[in-house]
Amino acid sequence: MNEFELIARYFARPVDAPWVAQAGGDDCALLAFGDRLLAITSDLLLEGRHFLHAVDPAALGHKALAVNLSDLAAAGATPRCFLLALALPRVDPAWLEAFSAGLYALADAHGCALVGGDTTRAPRLETRDGPLTICITALGEVPAGRAHGRRGARPGDDLWVSGTLGDAALALRHLTGTLQLDAAALAALRPRLERPCPRVALGTALRGLASACMDVSDGLVGDAGHIAARSGVQLVIEAAAVPLGAVLAAQPAGLGLVCALTGGDDYELLFTAPAGQRAAVQTAAAAAATPVTRIGSVAVGVGVIVVDANGQVMDTGPGGYDHFTVP
Ligand code: ADP
Ligand code: MG
Repeated sequence: MNEFELIARYFARPVDAPWVAQAGGDDCALLAFGDRLLAITSDLLLEGRHFLHAVDPAALGHKALAVNLSDLAAAGATPRCFLLALALPRVDPAWLEAFSAGLYALADAHGCALVGGDTTRAPRLETRDGPLTICITALGEVPAGRAHGRRGARPGDDLWVSGTLGDAALALRHLTGTLQLDAAALAALRPRLERPCPRVALGTALRGLASACMDVSDGLVGDAGHIAARSGVQLVIEAAAVPLGAVLAAQPAGLGLVCALTGGDDYELLFTAPAGQRAAVQTAAAAAATPVTRIGSVAVGVGVIVVDANGQVMDTGPGGYDHFTVP
């Protein structure tokens, strides 16, 4: 049972409440209040799973909120406030000072207020203290009828992504010892892993333009599958069009593409829009000061395919994209 099967089996009961406009299965839940929608999302960061023990606490404070603001951006919502739940293995004033500074810096940049939460001591386990656990629930606002979600992509639409992909995944490979980057490359990529920039301005600029939208946090191909499934379409990704930053483009033998297609922690927006809106999408992206790239299209069918420069479907083998290992 994977994560999504587990949720579908145990935690996806149909919701029948007139104020719930969108329940699970999307980046945010949506509650209807008159002419406003309240967008809500929650993300848990667990030491040892989502971040490394030695991570800079200011960066961690930033990231804990950034991943939630990224889900609000996916819905086209304007961030309003958030709740912070912490399980701390120890009380370390210097660590807390830095963590809260990183958290508040991003919150202030988005006018998003900390309005509550919960704090507890992580239990002492046999050999060491329990893992540091950070859970943020963020709330945002969208005018009724203007939110976008994973449903809504139509055959013939363009497929777009913001920024560049795979940078965080390559930095993580260095930090976990899978490969060695030089100092300049690491300095360029590390902020992409540790201080992702939630695409809030783009998310709101795409209101009324994007037919579907989500944030890419678990790898482009896998996440694209969520839009394909929810919209009942096939997404066609053109490998040569996937935007790579300079460091990834310089990697040997397709490693950059592997990171961009399958690596996690990008926090870019993946969205579809009618082909007739190409110029409008570029105008919206420019207004949001966020680069966007058209990386493919929406077709009749199911799932996600990646095609090469000749339009040939890249062989994914029986294991799907799992075969995209480091060459
Ligand atoms: P994201 O990466 O955008 O935060 P996830 O992949 O974590 O989304 O979750 C997928 C969907 O499942 C979301 O709609 C989320 O709200 C829902 N979900 C995740 N965990 C639970 C849970 N324990 N109970 C109910 N819904 C859940
Ligand atoms: Mg998301």
